[in-house]
This record gives sequence, structure tokens and C-alpha cells, in this order.
Amino acid sequence: MPGTLIIITAPSGAGKTTLVSGLLERDRQVNLSVSYTTRDPRPGERDGREYHFVDVATFRALRDRGEFLEWAEVHGNYYATSKVWLKQQIATGRDILLEIDWQGAQQVRKSFPDAVGVFILPPSLEELEVRLRGRGTDSDDVIMRRLLGARGEMRHVGEFDYVILNNDLQCALDDLVAVVRASRLRYANQHERHLQYFDFLEQD
Ligand code: 5GP
Repeated sequence: MPGTLIIITAPSGAGKTTLVSGLLERDRQVNLSVSYTTRDPRPGERDGREYHFVDVATFRALRDRGEFLEWAEVHGNYYATSKVWLKQQIATGRDILLEIDWQGAQQVRKSFPDAVGVFILPPSLEELEVRLRGRGTDSDDVIMRRLLGARGEMRHVGEFDYVILNNDLQCALDDLVAVVRASRLRYANQHERHLQYFDFLEQD
């Protein structure tokens, strides 16, 4: 595929959503996949923009029809990436960004071994708790569940190609932009983009 498939994974509160918005603003060649979820929308979230919000029965029906590239249960809710959307995007040759958890990342790597994995770490677990509380959108119970989950999620950092420590938002965003640009320049991607040129160069 000429486009790059980029997976971004982070425990909630690591600043992933802010970094992804910043990346999409700075790099117009990247398209973000909108996942399906069974969780309730947070204030300000809109169906079809942050997520496709569906009920459990609908989610299961879509999953059983094979509509998902990957799916996982995260913090008691279901999440999934649409296979049809991804296929359409691949055909356009644009870069695709998947904002998914480590379980989804493992599944995507099986279908797309060349996918680039980026893990975003908060500066520390203490800072992560401060950020989760500061967001003020989730209940205490949800925050505690997410903190416990964060530890488990961060254990999978070794499965990713790049690690960005989100200490300073601007630096982390620069890092993310750099990773995406560098990934786009990998030989295999450039070869597919400039097929005739490369074929000519590699002739005897
Ligand atoms: P949130 O509910 O805070 O938006 O997301 C919770 C977690 O679900 C995050 O770790 C996020 O990366 C993950 N997630 C969001 N969409 C998907 C998806 O399509 N597939 C998988 N496997 N995880 C997802």
C-alpha cells in the first residue's frame, strides 16, 4: 500500500487525543479512523466525529458480520475499527491513523505487519492520575479503573516501534509529526508511490 498505516496507543490521560488533533492540523495527508464504541458519549462528543456510538446489540451484530478489522473490550466497553472504511482509505493512498488500544494494535499487526506503532507515555504514573482527575469528565470509579488499566497497558510499550514521552506537549507533537513524516519516507512506501521511477532506477 502506498499510504502508511500508523497505530497510536496510550493509556487514557497520556495526552493522546490532544496530540492526534495537533498532528491532523499539522499534517493534512493523515486521515483518522473513527472507531465504533458502546460507551456513552462524553459532553461535547458527537456521533460520527469522535466515535460511532452504538449499543451492544448493534456492535455484536456488526462484529459477527465481519465488519471489523479489530475489536477489543476496554474499561468495560467495546471498541472496534471499521474494515470497510480502512479498505476505502487504503485505496486512496492516504496515510491512516488508528487510535486504538494494545489489544487492537496486536490484531492490526497480524493483517498489516508494516503498520507503524507509536506508544505515548505520560511522564509518570503520578502525573497520569493528576491528568485523569483534572479532566473532570469521568467519575471516581471510572478514574480508578482507568489508572489500574493504564499500568497494564503501559506494559505493552515494547511491542511498538516508537515511544513518545509526553512531558512537554509541543515537544511531543514535534516528535509525532517527525515519526509520521519519517514513516512516509520508508523505502517500501516510496517505491509504491514512484513505481515507474524506481523500476527505471533498478533496471540493469
Ligand atoms: P476513550 O473511551 O477514552 O475514548 O478510549 C478508551 C480506550 O479505547 C483508549 O485506549 C483507546 O485507544 C481505545 N480505543 C478507541 N477506539 C478503539 C478501537 O477502535 N479499537 C480498539 N482496540 N481500541 C480503541
